[in-house]
Amino acid sequence: MLRCDFCRKESEVVLRVALDRDYDRLTAAHEKRYACAECSAKKERERIKMLKDSKKAG
Ligand SMILES: [Zn+2]
Repeated sequence: MLRCDFCRKESEVVLRVALDRDYDRLTAAHEKRYACAECSAKKERERIKMLKDSKKAG
């Protein structure tokens, strides 16, 4: 059983998430984390939103 790094829930299925771009600046480069399906979808939505926002700003 693996544990989600985001919500700390144990899950049979976790997806490896590479935190890239802006996330990386606060932590080690290309830190790998495990996310349950729920958190993975949430992170993906945040990432897309962030990309859109950065396009708007830049
Ligand atoms: Zn989770």
